[in-house]
Amino acid sequence: MTRRKLIAGNWKMNETVPEAVVLAQEISNLMERDWLEMVDVAVCPPFVDLKPVKTVLEFDRVDIALGAQNVYWEPAGAFTGEISIPMIKEIGCTFCIVGHSERRNLFGETNEDVNRKARALIEAGIAPIVCVGESLSVRDEGAYLDYVTAQVRAAFAGIDGDDARTTVVAYEPVWAIGTGRTATPEQAEEVCAAIRACLADLYDEATAAAMRILYGGSMNEGNAALLLAEADIDGGLIGGAALKAGSFIEIVKAAL
Ligand code: PGA
Repeated sequence: MTRRKLIAGNWKMNETVPEAVVLAQEISNLMERDWLEMVDVAVCPPFVDLKPVKTVLEFDRVDIALGAQNVYWEPAGAFTGEISIPMIKEIGCTFCIVGHSERRNLFGETNEDVNRKARALIEAGIAPIVCVGESLSVRDEGAYLDYVTAQVRAAFAGIDGDDARTTVVAYEPVWAIGTGRTATPEQAEEVCAAIRACLADLYDEATAAAMRILYGGSMNEGNAALLLAEADIDGGLIGGAALKAGSFIEIVKAAL
């Protein structure tokens, strides 16, 4: 089973609209179009930047997908401050990150919320990028594989195998996010392989083999190639290094 790699940039709460337009333009300028026949690339800017970034990508006819960083599961209504799936879909998002550890830890998002978001996205035809990952204390206590696979099981509750195939999982150890302390390829592979085994248990081997599992956490141009060479790592969810066009492009090249 050869899975096409996915390199997704998570811009987090960075870039005003003019800055986002410049960054999207820089990425587009540096992106060789034939790379995009071999690897999937996505950018996930803040909500207000989605439309301007989409405009740049469309104008340049560059096949970089657009993703949101979060969404609410209700289609419309009295939910002050929230953004709906029809809103991000209309702009052209084909991916949406759900359950990022910053949302879980800073904004109280639960496994149940993550599951509701993932199910609503799948129903709308947008691929969720479901983030899972353990904190340093969980890792140090030793039960991190159980912890991460429990997050996976909760996120996929009620989702059937065909729908699961459209979903991406991102393993992001909290201790590696924004810290410069990347998981070693062996550490990342151990957990990504455990996630795939969990998916095979939830569904079947063929479904698990078809699903993409990304690594995220201080991935950069220096460490991407070794991480991406691991059997169960099918791409990267890139934070800090996605804000520098040159670094992001080098990571895309490492995925070719
Ligand atoms: P980082 O962030 O690459 O800056 O560690 C990754 C992420 O949180 O998605």
